[in-house]
Amino acid sequence: EPLRSTPPSSPQTPDEDAARTGREPENVRRGFLEHVRFSRGKNPETATAHDRFMALSLAVRDRLAHRWVKTARTYYEQDVKRAYYLSAEYLLGRALGNNLINTGMYEAAEQAMREVGVDLTTLIEMEPDAGLGNGGLGRLAACFLDSLATLAYPGMGYGIRYEFGIFSQDFVNGHQVERADEWLKFGNPWEIVRPEKAVPVRFFGRVEHHRGADGQSVARWVGGKTVIGVPFDTPIAGFGNNTVNTLRLWQARASEEFDLLLFNAGDYERSVVEKNDSEVISKVLYPNDAFQAGKELRLKQEYFFVACSIADIVRRYLKTHTDFRQFPAKAAIQLNDTHPAIAVAELMRVLVDDKRLGWEEAFHITQQTFGYTNHTLLAEAMEKWPVTLFERLLPRHLEIIYEINQRFLRQVQIRYPFDQERMQRMSLVEEGHEKMIRMAHLAVVGSHSVNGVAALHTDLLRRDVLTDFAAMYPERFNNKTNGVTPRRWLTWCNPRLSKLITSRIGHGWETDLDKLRKLEEHAQDAAFRKAFREVKQQNKQDLATYVSELCKVDLNPEAIFDVQIKRLHEYKRQLLNALHTVVLWMRARRDPSTIIHPRTFLFGAKAAPGYQSAKLIIRLINGIAEVVNSDAGTTGLQVLFLPNYRVSLAERIIPAADVSEQISTAGMEASGTGNMKLMLNGALTLGTLDGANVEIRDEVGDENFFLFGLTADEVIERKRTGYRPREVYHQHQELREAIDLISSGFFSPEDKHLFKPLVDSLLEEDRYLVLADFESYRAKQEDVARAYLDPDTWTRKCILNVARAGIFSSDRTIRQYAEEIWRVKQTPVES
Ligand code: PLP
Repeated sequence: EPLRSTPPSSPQTPDEDAARTGREPENVRRGFLEHVRFSRGKNPETATAHDRFMALSLAVRDRLAHRWVKTARTYYEQDVKRAYYLSAEYLLGRALGNNLINTGMYEAAEQAMREVGVDLTTLIEMEPDAGLGNGGLGRLAACFLDSLATLAYPGMGYGIRYEFGIFSQDFVNGHQVERADEWLKFGNPWEIVRPEKAVPVRFFGRVEHHRGADGQSVARWVGGKTVIGVPFDTPIAGFGNNTVNTLRLWQARASEEFDLLLFNAGDYERSVVEKNDSEVISKVLYPNDAFQAGKELRLKQEYFFVACSIADIVRRYLKTHTDFRQFPAKAAIQLNDTHPAIAVAELMRVLVDDKRLGWEEAFHITQQTFGYTNHTLLAEAMEKWPVTLFERLLPRHLEIIYEINQRFLRQVQIRYPFDQERMQRMSLVEEGHEKMIRMAHLAVVGSHSVNGVAALHTDLLRRDVLTDFAAMYPERFNNKTNGVTPRRWLTWCNPRLSKLITSRIGHGWETDLDKLRKLEEHAQDAAFRKAFREVKQQNKQDLATYVSELCKVDLNPEAIFDVQIKRLHEYKRQLLNALHTVVLWMRARRDPSTIIHPRTFLFGAKAAPGYQSAKLIIRLINGIAEVVNSDAGTTGLQVLFLPNYRVSLAERIIPAADVSEQISTAGMEASGTGNMKLMLNGALTLGTLDGANVEIRDEVGDENFFLFGLTADEVIERKRTGYRPREVYHQHQELREAIDLISSGFFSPEDKHLFKPLVDSLLEEDRYLVLADFESYRAKQEDVARAYLDPDTWTRKCILNVARAGIFSSDRTIRQYAEEIWRVKQTPVES
């Protein structure tokens, strides 16, 4: 369809234009057509769909620019304390739709596009996801940015501009195949590069110690090689206000100085190779979730973005201050997990070596500045780096870490004399055949606040993982239960439900999610329940339509949509869900009447490319799907693994879900945030007492939650007393038959022994207690099916889930961080 070329309206002055908010269709239309012509160099007749997407996005960005500049000016003028969020991951997803919602431009844009003969939804679908993260941790960072801006907090995100984000996932013969995520291939309309703010970062080299004029010893890190960090800024618009904060992502560039040196020496080839060496630092996101691979390049990435960000924060501070004692009064830095924990040593290096502060004073400033968020209890996720690697890559930081450790261990010794074991447990350095730096210990010692991400998680941190630290510094430990932004995860992704909610309780819930409580009374209203059911049904129909195109599978929209969407990890127990589908199917084959209600099991998950058992579980589920879907007509059962789970796919699945599977082994999931998104969209949780499930159940009440499985304490007890999974296998006939069917090669005709490693590990160790929890899970699934048979009762539960989800807004979470950790103040921006 060529664009309908309509003459532009009367020209306006730039000032008038800046004042325009973009809430008038005429204004959006003009901005769009100008960008088609001047940014894309196209006629309306020749503009491709991609040109149109770029033109509209640029028009939206223009309408943010004025407020973006004004926000920056406001923070400077009021000299406010700022919150800096350091995160190796930001799982942003698409920006266009979200920006239209947050700026209130959506309707105007829709009309403007209609006037020029363009379907807005089609443009929105053009945008690739910004997948600069793996899962929960990265998506949390994205929700936090939205809440910071919406609550008008002076906040800024720092991270890495990965050229390739999380891989895109295909299935070939049921196996996961990864493809590089070329999200920048066609250009990114949202970012602005700021080469003038580039930062040099040193690696390798050596440390020189000498005496300064004052007789003090001074260290200088010299030599090695320098890489340049170039910042790219993305505007983060608040919802319904004038705040536009910044996400600043660093890209690695080779230093020109270095190039020149080699070019002059005539070694062209080597200089080009070296250039690659530098620029590879921001090339690709490591695709592991809750697992540390320990690659040298990963440590380079971490130090690279931390050094750039600390330099940037210090530069900004020094524009209006000279005395570093005021630094913690103007900057709070939050470490999103230990990935940026090297920031503790880097700030010390800047303060002590560059700015010549005394050690004690510098350390006090550092501690007052940093807060650390822990995201996991799993041992394999705990970051540790070999001392030898540190010594080579960051020699000065190793010295600083040793000095921090020495002074810290002296405190431990004074507090707990003659407790050598405790000193070893708490040391920043793990002794062993290879000495390692424990990044979590560095983060705890260098921060004034340490938080977990759900009540149970924080308890377990205090009790198990960081017990010694909690005993020594109890005042440092606090909980900040995760949250999700209601703008993306309700207003944007579920317009039907949003409209229905607003029709009953009015607007306002978008920024004050506790207002959803008012829906409780409407749960008693049969007309509301009917409308609610219709919304869910239409969302399910939409998903079915989408899936039939994507996967060539026709979902039954009358079935219960039972979804498990999250990274593939053994602790998340997709295998438990899969085993249950096999049991149900075997029953149904014998007697279809055993199926209480038709059910469609939907999975979405990426497995880390090197995580073999996770990939095998994907293959198994695809194998089960092939079998189960072949006779769905008689059994009423369907199983489908949707490829390439990502934020934009989550936005389609979540509004259509009836059942939310949150079935991790108790004590292993730090919080979960998918659980909150599904609850907010009216799905009922089938879950263990793990992570934030505990708080979800506390909020909705036991009668509106399907609980099963061992508790975290029972898991420990069961393992302590010698758990024998093979006994469970022998005792449970249906479970045994399902496992035997998998073992027989029924789901992998091309290779009968394909699933042997999965089955062996299940029967011999079953580290995640899949078999131990199976019967409890199966029985609860039966309750779910029976409950669904009574639509009125079911819908009432769904409505109560929505009504009681208010506490899981990331606005609540961010307010708590701001008030209790960062001490930053809301700073609204005038229009
Ligand atoms: N991956 C994506 C794309 C998401 O949108 C989410 C949502 O929170 C997650 C992972 C995290 O899921 P969960 O909290 O269930 O692990």
